[in-house]
Amino acid sequence: MSETHMPLESMMSNCTDATTPACSKTTTPACTHSVASGSSLQLQTALVTGGSRGIGRAICVALAQQGCSVAINFAGDAAAAEETMQLCQEAARDAGHTSSRFAAFQADIAIASECERLHTEVCETLGSPNILINNAGITRDNLIMRMTLEDFDAVLAVNLRAAFQLCKLASRFMLKQRQGRIINITSVVGLSGNAGQANYAASKAGIIGLTKSLAREFAGRNVTVNAVAPGFIDTAMTKVLNEGNRGKLLESIPLQRLGTPQDVAATVAFLSGKEAGYITGQVIAVDGGMTMQP
Ligand code: NAP
Repeated sequence: MSETHMPLESMMSNCTDATTPACSKTTTPACTHSVASGSSLQLQTALVTGGSRGIGRAICVALAQQGCSVAINFAGDAAAAEETMQLCQEAARDAGHTSSRFAAFQADIAIASECERLHTEVCETLGSPNILINNAGITRDNLIMRMTLEDFDAVLAVNLRAAFQLCKLASRFMLKQRQGRIINITSVVGLSGNAGQANYAASKAGIIGLTKSLAREFAGRNVTVNAVAPGFIDTAMTKVLNEGNRGKLLESIPLQRLGTPQDVAATVAFLSGKEAGYITGQVIAVDGGMTMQP
């Protein structure tokens, strides 16, 4: 995991809106935060962690399609984050949203001070986010006998502690505004457990506890907090599966296919919108029916 920081200059040059090739903090008006009308997320600003690829990228694009400005966080892959930004611009332009803005922010959210820096830079560049998507996640799989404390701590730091920290940082503005959406990406493994993933499953179960607790804390201020639990989604994270395991997995999925990042993103975009205003503290599985209860 890279700990180098993208210089502010280059971060700023990555700030683009849907109509012009570049914008700067001084020339672009800060986003205002009124309640979105209809299904549109116009005038909303989202911070998406791990937006450079996979599910995070699809979430950024889905939000851009709805007119949202998006802060795209990434750890090390600046080129991939740049690509996400371009896809967001195209999606916004195709949907006729002309005032959305997009910027990429390098920050290793495993480091506590990096979460603070990320939040500050997003506020300064795009305005305080009123939608937070805690998506970044890593795995360090092993049976517990071989799992080191470092492997456990590393996974918990990205998957759970950073989500806690960003919820704390971003909710201050949301609570003041009496409007906000927090969506935490958990996993079906957080519901069922999985051999070889004690650290990952613990982090994802922790995300569910965090989500439900904050949903209760924030409900009185019209800030909703939900979790989305993907099943097996076709991304870099699941590319490591061999054909045999992939085949076995498919047998356990009633819809008989792996999910796509877009399947997950559509649910996140819905939960981010006005229509989802009466949903809080829920865990929505996007898993092809894998975890359906009898
Ligand atoms: P992925 O393709 O591996 O992408 C992970 C993303 O997280 C990348 O954008 C990466 O940035 C970022 N990231 C990793 N460590 C980071 C750190 N320390 N600081 C900031 N960003 C960091 O993962 P994915 O499959 O899209 O998964 C996204 C989320 O869905 C995760 O929370 C995962 O646990 C969850 N999920 C996935 C599946 C699945 O089947 N794929 C199933 C259930 C749940 P860089 O590109 O810069 O490294």
